[in-house]
Amino acid sequence: MRIGHGYDAHVFSDACPLVLGGVTIPCEKGLLAHSDGDVVVHALCDALLGAMALGDMGFLFPNTANEFKHINSRILLRKVMQLVQDKGYQVVNVDITIVAEVPKLAPHIQAMRKHLAADMQVAMGAVNVKSTTTEGLGFVGRQEGIATHAVALIQ
Ligand code: MG
Repeated sequence: MRIGHGYDAHVFSDACPLVLGGVTIPCEKGLLAHSDGDVVVHALCDALLGAMALGDMGFLFPNTANEFKHINSRILLRKVMQLVQDKGYQVVNVDITIVAEVPKLAPHIQAMRKHLAADMQVAMGAVNVKSTTTEGLGFVGRQEGIATHAVALIQ
């Protein structure tokens, strides 16, 4: 068994949509990024890569490469899962914490779990997604962006 941790943060931009965990969320602002800005999937991918000691997303999918411009991050997650399978691992469970002051994420958590479980080919019971605010503290509290932590266990 191996464990990995991932962290990512993106800054808000005026351009919607906001995509988190593969779910398009109604919002006033999206997240600025080379890809679709799905900070949840990015943190998860880094956790899986971390568990395999395979570096990070920035190394595998450089933000200078045109092929990854505006890419649906779920495609990147499936690419990472191909590496998991190629290495002979399977996902035991993942736990994800989204740190966001806005928007309200509770209505979208189950859809995120469903998408991520499908992409990792595991049961929804192996995928936990939760969200928290920072009670107004820091860049999240000032509503400047969204951060996500992820932990992944593979065997
Ligand atoms: Mg990112």
